[in-house]
Amino acid sequence: MSLCSHEEIERIFNVSSASDYLLKIRADATVDHVRICRVFRRRMADAGENWCFNGYFDTGPFDNYVKHLADEDYTAAKELTAGFVFCNKPNGQIEKTEFGNIITISESLRYFLYFMNLAILDHGDAEVPQDVRSAAIKIAIRTMLQSEALDFDLDPRGEIPKQVHDNVQLHTDRQLEFIVGHEFAHHFLGHLNDANLIEGTYLSVRELGEKTHKFFSYAQQDELDADITAIERPVYTPDMRADLVNRALFFFVYLHIYQGVKDQISPSMGRAKSHPDPIDRFHHMYNHFKDSVELDEENLKSLLELSDIYKESLVEDVALNFESYEFYGSIYLAQWRGKVLIDRVDF
Ligand SMILES: [Zn+2]
Repeated sequence: MSLCSHEEIERIFNVSSASDYLLKIRADATVDHVRICRVFRRRMADAGENWCFNGYFDTGPFDNYVKHLADEDYTAAKELTAGFVFCNKPNGQIEKTEFGNIITISESLRYFLYFMNLAILDHGDAEVPQDVRSAAIKIAIRTMLQSEALDFDLDPRGEIPKQVHDNVQLHTDRQLEFIVGHEFAHHFLGHLNDANLIEGTYLSVRELGEKTHKFFSYAQQDELDADITAIERPVYTPDMRADLVNRALFFFVYLHIYQGVKDQISPSMGRAKSHPDPIDRFHHMYNHFKDSVELDEENLKSLLELSDIYKESLVEDVALNFESYEFYGSIYLAQWRGKVLIDRVDF
């Protein structure tokens, strides 16, 4: 059995549409990256006869976002090619190709959100010990830094109780919907412009060598506009809108924590940023919606306080254990680690 079917291989060698292009990006990333290749081999084995490479990527957050768009937007969104890929920038991207614009969201961003949610959220009656939360936040940060191996399918880093996992997954998917919306918003607002073309790389240079694709960089105001449009454009009930604003605000706080650690590791002095600081995105969104959407102010206030506490302790940890952020490999969920799995023996 091979990773791609005959038909898929044909399409990869004769790219003639945006969906062929997306398939090729996915396949290139997979075969060039040892760990991702192993993840897929396991997925193939689990799927057996029903295996379909391109069909394996989750479409949930895309479908869930698009289905709430009004007629014209819905049609425009359906015409765009959009999907998950494994790529080095744990982010959403909109890329211009000769076949049209393609939206891609990195699966590594999903893992970042997953472990951040595990670390930060209240999981109801389920108790998540502090050492597990601290380890989870470090896994999330290392995923963004591209030092954490992307083999969570094979080695989930510990045994997470089902109730907690389900809760974390639910929040992660909803946050991803906002990120999908943000990328669609760039398209709806006509932000795509040749003058904004920049180069980016898929996957970690560390393991892959240079592989360049073209991406767009947007003015920071465009980013702020895209944040708002992502939430205003779909037809939502007031509750759903409040919910998505809340998810987006949590996402910005997570990025804010990451930014603090990253600045400590490699200060970005003078470097032009395509995105505004996450905390500015937080305040911009909060101020925009605070009078029209019901937000839990107390909860948001304690989220900000908590983020400062985490940021401070992570910055301290970087000073003391710098190496633990840089080495490529895996770290584990402290007392939830469970049975120690041995690389290439157990998975
Ligand atoms: Zn953007």
